[in-house]
Amino acid sequence: MENEILSLIDEAARLIKQSKYVVAFTGAGMSVDSGLPLYNHWNNFDPHILDINYFRQNPAEVWQEFKKSFLTIYPQAKPNRAHLLLKEMQDQRLIRGIISVNIDDLHQKAGSTNVHNVCGQINGSVCQNCAHKFNIQEISFEHLPPTCSECGGILKPDILFWGDLVPDPEYKLGMKEANRAKLMIIIGTSGTIMPAGVIPMFAKYRRHVSIIEINIQPTVYTSQITDIFIPLPAAEALSLLKQHLLEG
Ligand SMILES: [Zn+2]
Repeated sequence: MENEILSLIDEAARLIKQSKYVVAFTGAGMSVDSGLPLYNHWNNFDPHILDINYFRQNPAEVWQEFKKSFLTIYPQAKPNRAHLLLKEMQDQRLIRGIISVNIDDLHQKAGSTNVHNVCGQINGSVCQNCAHKFNIQEISFEHLPPTCSECGGILKPDILFWGDLVPDPEYKLGMKEANRAKLMIIIGTSGTIMPAGVIPMFAKYRRHVSIIEINIQPTVYTSQITDIFIPLPAAEALSLLKQHLLEG
């Protein structure tokens, strides 16, 4: 088994080296080692809270829950080895851009650039009336829901809710990056978060990019679009890949 994995790593490293523009597409598996729960696995968290229609009727309650469930965990989270390895690969221009379905900002905290959080970001909020965006630190939580200092409209966490419109412009920029890719490395995401989950499909079918997939278990991508499947946790796979890339 070990030899089998090493030959997959070898093949993946060869593809990365040959490729002119490599883009990583990352998800929850990337941030598990930073103590962040998988999007679908919130304990004590009712998923209807993240439904846009529910938010419209109960913005104060949603903010209350959001503060309790998200804002107590995310701001303290630190990038883990996988984020740092990806950043090092970016420094060496082996990877050029990162598209992430994660709402954390751990790629940015690790120092990566050209990162597109296509499902929004935990530290953002957006006015439902005038679309003005605020960092979470700029807004007052004295009264819930928090309101816009420009127009008084109700603010919403700037992450993708069920039934929500896709966040703009990050989604568009993410698609642009996918368009540029010659090779995409899927890391730690099973592709179930829509519509962002289709980005690798788009890259494969429309742009004919090669796909390397790093996931512990096969996903919806594996049989459909993946060329090389590496069944390892993110940090382990990236560490092996980096070694192979540096060796020559
Ligand atoms: Zn406003």
